[in-house]
Amino acid sequence: MLQRNFPKVLCIGLTLVVAVNILLAFYPKGTFQNLVLGGLRKKLSLPLLESDGARIKSVSPLEMNLQPLEESMTLAKKEQENVDNILKKRVEAKANKTKKLKPYVKFFPDSELFKQWGEDLSEAEQKKAEDLFQKYGYNVYLSDRLPLNRTILDTRDSRCLQKMYSSQLPSLGVILIFLDEALSIILRAITSIIDRTPSRVLKEIILVDDFSSNGELKEDLDEQIKLYNQKYPGLLRIIRHTERRGLAQARNTGWEAATADVVAILDSHIEVNIGWAEPILARIQEDNTVIVSPVFDNINFDTFALEKYELAVDGFNWKLWCRYDVLPQAWIDLHDVTAPIKSPSIMGILAANRLFLGEIGSLDGGMLVYGGENVELSLRVWLCGGKIEILPCSRVAHLERHHKPYALHLSPVMKRNALRVAEIWMDKYKYMVYAAWNIPLKNSGINYGDISSRKALREKLKCKTFNWYLKNVYPFLKPIHSLVGYGRMKNSLDETICLDQGPESGHSPIMFHCHEFSSQNIYYLLTGEFYVGPLIAERGIDDLCLADPGIGEQPTLEPCSNAAQNGLYIYWNFRQGRAVINRATKRCLEIAKDTSGTYVPVLQVCTTQVLCPGTACSPQVPAKPPVFKFSTFRKPT
Ligand code: UDP
Ligand code: MN
Repeated sequence: MLQRNFPKVLCIGLTLVVAVNILLAFYPKGTFQNLVLGGLRKKLSLPLLESDGARIKSVSPLEMNLQPLEESMTLAKKEQENVDNILKKRVEAKANKTKKLKPYVKFFPDSELFKQWGEDLSEAEQKKAEDLFQKYGYNVYLSDRLPLNRTILDTRDSRCLQKMYSSQLPSLGVILIFLDEALSIILRAITSIIDRTPSRVLKEIILVDDFSSNGELKEDLDEQIKLYNQKYPGLLRIIRHTERRGLAQARNTGWEAATADVVAILDSHIEVNIGWAEPILARIQEDNTVIVSPVFDNINFDTFALEKYELAVDGFNWKLWCRYDVLPQAWIDLHDVTAPIKSPSIMGILAANRLFLGEIGSLDGGMLVYGGENVELSLRVWLCGGKIEILPCSRVAHLERHHKPYALHLSPVMKRNALRVAEIWMDKYKYMVYAAWNIPLKNSGINYGDISSRKALREKLKCKTFNWYLKNVYPFLKPIHSLVGYGRMKNSLDETICLDQGPESGHSPIMFHCHEFSSQNIYYLLTGEFYVGPLIAERGIDDLCLADPGIGEQPTLEPCSNAAQNGLYIYWNFRQGRAVINRATKRCLEIAKDTSGTYVPVLQVCTTQVLCPGTACSPQVPAKPPVFKFSTFRKPT
């Protein structure tokens, strides 16, 4: 379509460029932009934003110049004066600008906001932008200055443009949930939905405010909703939580209020792209048990430029953090880039048949704040009669924030929600989630809430087992069947330091002061391997094995399946409270001080280490051979 009309488009384009240049030659850039923006805003029936009072005023000289030619000579003279004034002002402005041309000073050199943005901002402007950035986690200063209906790159494969859709698609309700977002971000999401969804299918947009604290989301947002509804009667609704209930409950609130055939539940820092809705509606019309996700592109949090993402499916690791996975071979073999892609999980954003989503239990309202609820829904969908797909022709630009305004550290709540998922769905494999988080299966001290109603739902829906999911949907995840124990390892010579994976790039374990991060996770397997660092346990990616290279004193870390070919010995004998002895070399893992006096792990003849209480120090007769042991030894069963 675009190709066929290309000469015409080019011609119109050139004419527009010439016209714009003529206008720009006579009028300051701001005036022209304001004219365009003002017009757009009128089109949207939106009131002018705070800063627009000034803009209205600056439009008037231009409007006067557009008066018909037959107007009186007096008017023409006046116009000429105006043009003269404008030109004079332009010269002055230019002179001022040259005067201002001093070297750019970065007032926040460490801020991520100014890494590739903000060169022309004054100190006051930088301060304002930085404050907004800290508050929201993205560039609100810029967002407030970008048109609400800005154009973004159409990131679909060209073959998507040839797809034809029924004229009888189901109706669509869009749910936007938010907590402490900037007003302009929410308005841009709404604008993109209205502009890029066929009006015949767009039945409702439901906003759910999860008890935001920022003032502009109160009356100002209500006012904007009123204005949208004047233009599109009854389209928008807002529901406000009176206390913070977390994203799962916010999504459920939106779902409960919806009436359309299909619901799309989105974050509010998004811009839907052209043609995003049709593939969703057509696929759900075809099969109402499929829960779909669009493909995401990223809106850079600083420049707001769109970054195209390649196709991928949504997966997760044993901590249940989501991540992108490679495309399934079966889909690649189809040689159809427009075909739906079977996905083990969703990331959060989803669309579903409204009634089907209800039948399988919408989202688990027992999930707090953020995280885990997407995996819970995904397991439930796959195990209880549905499926999950990514639709390559439906694209939504999502802003990945630099930081979240509602929580600086997500790990504690993510951990809690992950245990909830494990307890409800993972049967005998739940220990893998506990192991990945390095917490004991029993008495973890973490309250994951009441799960009885979710377990009852699992019974009622006659859902399959997690083992079925691992075999049929997500064979990437590879539970360790022979896990003997896990925890952190200390040596009795100094109990304040723990065995640690060391710098990411290196292959050498170190001794480092004990902490709670996963670089100090240690897993011991019945087969004799010690895994060091974050648990992977996935097909095709190795965990790091503690290895004795046979020469030298230094132990190394090596992807387990590489070790043999590299001549490394990775099998160890170990019992809690006893020495760590390599099965092949018979050497022990112990610690010793290096030349700088820092303890490092060493491989040496066993139990040469000696405690030296006071001055008495006898290497021959160690009273108590200091050995490595798990400081927290957790059995998986
Ligand atoms: N959210 C919410 N309540 C919360 C936490 C998050 O309503 O307690 C909203 C948030 O405003 C966003 C959506 O849930 O629209 C998803 O959260 P976020 O964007 O932080 O997740 P991410 O996309 O980074 O995974
Ligand atoms: Mn988000």
